[in-house]
Order: sequence, then structure tokens, then C-alpha cells
Amino acid sequence: MGSARLDINLNAIAENWRALDGKTGTGTETAAVVKADAYGLGSGPVARHLAAAGVRTFFVAVAEEGAAVRAAVGPGPAIGIFSGHMAGDTDLIAAHDLTPMLNSPAQMDRHLSALPGAAFGIQLDSGMNRLGMEPAEWEAVKARALEAKPWLVMSHLACADDPDHPQNAQQLAAFRGMTDGLGLRRSLSATGGILLGPDYHFDVTRPGVGLYGGLPFATALPVVQLTLPVVQCRDLLPGEPVGYSATWVAPRPSRIATVAAGYADGLLRSLSGKATLFAKGTPCPLAGRVSMDLLTIDISDLDEDPETLEILGPYQGIDALADAAGTIGYEILTSLSARYDRRYGTA
Ligand SMILES: *Cc1c(COP(=O)(O)O)cnc(C)c1O
Repeated sequence: MGSARLDINLNAIAENWRALDGKTGTGTETAAVVKADAYGLGSGPVARHLAAAGVRTFFVAVAEEGAAVRAAVGPGPAIGIFSGHMAGDTDLIAAHDLTPMLNSPAQMDRHLSALPGAAFGIQLDSGMNRLGMEPAEWEAVKARALEAKPWLVMSHLACADDPDHPQNAQQLAAFRGMTDGLGLRRSLSATGGILLGPDYHFDVTRPGVGLYGGLPFATALPVVQLTLPVVQCRDLLPGEPVGYSATWVAPRPSRIATVAAGYADGLLRSLSGKATLFAKGTPCPLAGRVSMDLLTIDISDLDEDPETLEILGPYQGIDALADAAGTIGYEILTSLSARYDRRYGTA
């Protein structure tokens, strides 16, 4: 095999969804966020499997993603669009029965005039200042919105991965201030907010990264395994350099394995000199720079040449690799290459 193999465990995703669902009361529905192609893992297979596991509501970032999810899950589940009703989206929204989360009075005008009677939700800004209506905007359109019966009113927490951050309570109070007493279904929390406790749960939660095995859901089951084929191995004398810019020099008689994946496959160049790969559990350090399609690995301590080396899996999860790259698990996942040989398993 010439390309690296990415194993995606769909049952682990479903188990993570069940575990997050179990953290909230029976009155709280747990949706699933499958934006960015389900965080790089494939929104079609992931959404189909989650729908079979009982997910009734999906969220994506843009309407085009929603159309793909609708094709995968068929009629029935609700599909919310975080970016709302953008100019030019009307036909997609209508054709695929998507539910835009309206972010501004202008989006509300657009939606109610283009598709009167069609489902919509409202996104409010409770302090992140990224998406959603400001309190004064909401006040101005609230009566008209309520008359049209929103499906859901939501907001998003900026600091939920840090339970001690004072902005969590501030955003909770702001959200309550904008929505208490209106009789609307409400949603505030993604993965991090679920872990903040019941005050944050409301009627619907919207986990993403926790489904895919990432922090802040520390007890998530790992979902991905990435196995890189060895193209060739060679012996080096002490003092011989490896790779671009000769940043690694053999400190002893060394053996180097070259494996088939690089920064074009989402193995970020910031991993240069920092990543660790594994040969059946034995750690082997990356030697030198990450190339576009290749990595060079110091396998001097192995008894025999490996056929493959693992960079994601039981020995190293997405957040451990993210730490080495100076990023977050989300970016490791969403960078995973389309070039990988993807296998969906239900082990
Ligand atoms: C991405 C996103 C989520 C999911 O967040 P995670 O941290 O991955 O659980 C939920 N809601 C909104 C508005 C988002 O943008």
C-alpha cells in the first residue's frame, strides 16, 4: 500500500455521543455537530451512523454541508445551519429541508420573506462576539420572531474548555437574560459546556469534538488510528544529516525509515523535530523536518525494520499529537488528508 491508512471507528463515535448524552438529564436532547466534514472524518458515514444510533438533530456550518448531511441521513432528522440564511442559500435550504440559525435582523428578513413558514432558529450573541444577534437586535425583532415560532434559540460559549473562566457564568447570565420566560427551546453548550454542569444544559446540547475523541472530553474513546507505510530504510554513519535543511544529524550509527505522509496530509510542519511515531508501541522519534509527502523516522532502537509506523492510535491520541505540533486536537482532525486510505469500522 502506497498511501497511509486512516481507520475511523464509527462505534466509538456513537459511544462518545451516548456518553455525552448520559451527562445531561432526560429532558435534554443531545445533537451532533458534523461541520467541516464531521471534523475531517467524513460527514456522510458519520451522520448516517449517528442517526442510526438515535441522533435526531445535526448541526453544520454552512448550507452546502447541510445538503450533504441530508443526502446521508434522509428525511427526518433536523439539520441546523450555524451561518444562518446567507444570500443565495434559499434554494438549498428549501430543497434539503435545512434549518438556518438566523444571526441578524437582516437574515431574519431574508428568511421570513423568502421562505415564509419554513423552519428557522435564532442565534444570539451572549458575549463571544462572533455570530448571533446582539441583545438590542434581538429586542428589536423578538416579537416578530416569536410570532413565526422559532425551532430553537441558541448561543455559543467562548471559554467552556476552561471551567474556571469567569466568562462562562457571564455568558450564561446573558443568555438567560435574553431568553428566560419566552417558552422557547434553548441550546447553549457544545462539548465543553456539557461538562460545566446542568445549569448549562437547557433543552439541546451541541457536542462536536467530544464525539470524535477530543478534549475537553477527557474520557472520550479514541476514534482514529493513522498508520503510515514505510517506503524504505537506510543506515547512517554518525554525522550524516537527514532531510531538508539538514536539521537532524545522526549522533550515532543510526537507521532511518522513510514513511509516506507529510504536511500535505495534515501532519503539520510544526511537528518537525518534535513528533513521535510508534512501532507496535515502541516510540520512534521523527528525525528532522516534515516534508510534503514524507517523514523520516529514527528507528535505530528497533530490532527489525517495521512495515508501518503509527502516528495516531492507542499510543498517541489526537491531543497528544496536537501538543507536539503546538495546536489543538480539532486542527489535527480537520487537517487529516483526503489522500489517506479511509476505512470505516464498527469494531
Ligand atoms: C463547532 C461548534 C460546536 C461544537 O463545538 P465542540 O467544541 O467541537 O463540541 C457547537 N456549537 C457551535 C456554534 C459551534 O461552532
